[in-house]
Amino acid sequence: MQLSEQANISCMVKGGIFDDAKTWDFVFGFLMIASLGACGISQGAESVEERDTLAVDDSTLTEEGDDADAEAVQEAEEVSSETTGTAPNEQAVGDAGVFDLENGMVLLNSGYEMPILGIGCFRLSQSQAEDSVYWALRDGYRLIDTARIYGNEEGVGRGIQRAIDEGICTREEIFVTTKMWTDDFGDGDAAIDASLSRLDLEYIDLMILHHSQPSNDVEAYQAMERAVEAGKLKSIGLSNYYEPEDFDRLVDATTITPALLQNETHPYHQSTVMKEHIAQYGTVMESWFPLGGRGNTQVLFDDETISSIATEHGKTSAQVILRWHLQAGNIAIPGSSNEAHIQENFEVFDFELTEDEMQRLTALDKDQRFAGY
Ligand code: NAD
Repeated sequence: MQLSEQANISCMVKGGIFDDAKTWDFVFGFLMIASLGACGISQGAESVEERDTLAVDDSTLTEEGDDADAEAVQEAEEVSSETTGTAPNEQAVGDAGVFDLENGMVLLNSGYEMPILGIGCFRLSQSQAEDSVYWALRDGYRLIDTARIYGNEEGVGRGIQRAIDEGICTREEIFVTTKMWTDDFGDGDAAIDASLSRLDLEYIDLMILHHSQPSNDVEAYQAMERAVEAGKLKSIGLSNYYEPEDFDRLVDATTITPALLQNETHPYHQSTVMKEHIAQYGTVMESWFPLGGRGNTQVLFDDETISSIATEHGKTSAQVILRWHLQAGNIAIPGSSNEAHIQENFEVFDFELTEDEMQRLTALDKDQRFAGY
């Protein structure tokens, strides 16, 4: 798949609510406390602190929240197992994980190709997700990352349909990722069908388990394996596995090797150990919080090394960070509901960081995470 040319967008939506970190931090902090109570987290859990934080992690906090989600899960109908997706490239699976920066693609160990730069939908409302996904597809993006817990899968589906209806792209050219939330691990089959229904898709390109913490992750992963067999999912993977042993525990108990691991990864937390570990399986790293995440981005944008390299290239700090991800072999899914930022974040295929610049950026690693889950 060839990445299309950038659309000439003149719209300048600046400082949408998604970019107002201070306001958001206040609201998020308040809602975190409310959410903890509402989530009914067991204080007897093995790692209460981790599970508490996890529970509020991606609880999207949009207008359409968990209630609507839960209803959708219950009411979900069986989806067709017929698929129309592109066929896996079996012959080249040995090359899994090698980034093609010219075409913006990577071959997964499942045999499917995946775009290396996409749009993240964390904390987008249904309508924001619809618009952002539509704008992204119009700008040339072909990878979309959402999750059942974001409460915006319907909006994502509508954005995709709008782009398809306008002839911007075909379903087969788009790579859609969603995640199975931990509460659903006990009935993964229903969770997959519900996501398909909400997204209004016949198949999902990649589904990943949202977090490693619940003890029934193997059971949930096996449901995804069944869905691969049924043609409902093309590739499957994991998110938030930070210990090689934890990753191996899941791999040893299951059949299909994870195609991808989505972990917090950015210049201050480069995930080097996990990246090296999963490479032996042909599993690729995908970065969440690629720009540091809401409320932390300015720390990275103002970093002297990053901002000086940006100035040298006539690019923004965000673009330099994203280019670093791609050259370092991390799939990146920056989140934004800001039309101008969405466009800016995709304009990273027209410059290259030198070896020296890559080394200077690699030297920024502090093993410092911005999130606690
Ligand atoms: P991010 O690092 O992409 O940063 C998002 C923040 O950066 C927002 O405040 C956004 O407004 C701002 N921003 C984006 N582009 C900008 C630009 N060009 N200039 C200035 N500001 C800009 O963090 P994120 O969105 O939380 O993470 C990316 C995606 O990863 C999410 O949208 C989601 O899809 C996924 N995610 C997954 C998990 C998980 O547990 N698996 C957790 C968090 C996020």
